[in-house]
Amino acid sequence: MTKSERLFEEAVRYMPGGVNSPVRAFGSVGEKPRFIEKGEGAYITDADGRTYLDFVGSWGPMILGHNHPQVKEAVLKACEKGLSFGAATEAEVTMARLICELVPSIEMVRMVNSGTEAVMSAVRAARGFTGRNKIVKFAGCYHGHSDAMLVKAGSGVMTAGVPDSAGVPAGCSQDTLTAVYNDLSSVEELFGACGQEIGAVIVEPVGANMGVVPPAEGFLEGLRGLCTRHGALLIFDEVITGFRLGLSGAQGYFGITPDLTTFGKIIGGGMPVGAYGGRREIMEMIAPLGPVYQAGTLSGNPVAMAAGIAQLRLLKETPDFYQKLGQKSERFFEQVQKLGRESKIPCQLNHVGSLGCLFFTQEPVRDYASAKTSDTKAYAGYFKHMLREGIYLAPSQFEAMFVSAAMTEEDLERTLSAMETYFLAG
Ligand SMILES: *Cc1c(COP(=O)(O)O)cnc(C)c1O
Repeated sequence: MTKSERLFEEAVRYMPGGVNSPVRAFGSVGEKPRFIEKGEGAYITDADGRTYLDFVGSWGPMILGHNHPQVKEAVLKACEKGLSFGAATEAEVTMARLICELVPSIEMVRMVNSGTEAVMSAVRAARGFTGRNKIVKFAGCYHGHSDAMLVKAGSGVMTAGVPDSAGVPAGCSQDTLTAVYNDLSSVEELFGACGQEIGAVIVEPVGANMGVVPPAEGFLEGLRGLCTRHGALLIFDEVITGFRLGLSGAQGYFGITPDLTTFGKIIGGGMPVGAYGGRREIMEMIAPLGPVYQAGTLSGNPVAMAAGIAQLRLLKETPDFYQKLGQKSERFFEQVQKLGRESKIPCQLNHVGSLGCLFFTQEPVRDYASAKTSDTKAYAGYFKHMLREGIYLAPSQFEAMFVSAAMTEEDLERTLSAMETYFLAG
């Protein structure tokens, strides 16, 4: 028995499923989790001393690779001064200024502790500002696990949401309407039916929680137009895309200005951090300035801020950071696409910048329904092969592949060879 297996046996006795977040349990790929001991650059090492090239990167935050010396140093320095005060600190001002400078649509920002919290709070702010209760989300978009956001597809475009999770009272999700990603007419229908009640449309500007689904030409512009016309706010959930597609996120990449934006993942440099921000008049609704209450004992924690600031500064100050990461990713994904076409196993690649996903389906994937046509058993086979080859992919078909700046051309070549042996063997 490996050490990971022993740890997992013990873990399941004390934690539901042995984990603190479900997808870590490796259930959908029929494997047992590898317990990770350390990470360095593009690689992670498990409890049995096996090293893997890591395409998960803590689900996005580690865009610079693991244990970046400057981020680590900033954290250690902050630790020396104390871990938390629950009082105002200079690091919070530095972080807020940095975000407002980098993302033009953000005039004011509030730090929180996770992406879930950022979305929950942004939705509350939108409802408080507009005085409207209904929220439109898209099937297959994930916005964290707050009650109102745990609603997905299957409920039909025009019907009110059906809770996706047990324990969510119908009352908590009845104001969450579901539309079809990349289908503006599904959103128009909702506005047509109850436009005066819709406070916000929330969207992942690149769908990255149903695999990777780029926005179709005109989709984000169309949402912007509909929201403006009907007096609803447009919320971009940039928890994955923020500081991933560029310094000003997907909104800069596609040139669309949302009213509110949520961040998480990269913004914390590996620490638990989230943020939401936007137009001043909306953010001025937040307590203590306004009537929308939102608080946090550890929000803006100095150690977490130190990690986030160090990482954001590196992204900002490294010359051509996004151009280089984008070009490296583009070359890699082009090769993956070629392998996919030659493969005996039907598959499709979607990619934007350093985000990609190989779907095991023949259908082009542009929304939740087409993503769901993927053969998850085929993905599991591919995942296991790659893991044996020392390449750590997301343990689920419906997650992104994250290319990090720490990956070298050799790392990516090796990944392609491992894919090739699998695909050409069929
Ligand atoms: C990960 C994610 C969240 C939730 O963030 P947590 O930090 O896991 O709470 C919300 N929205 C999107 C788009 C995400 O990818």
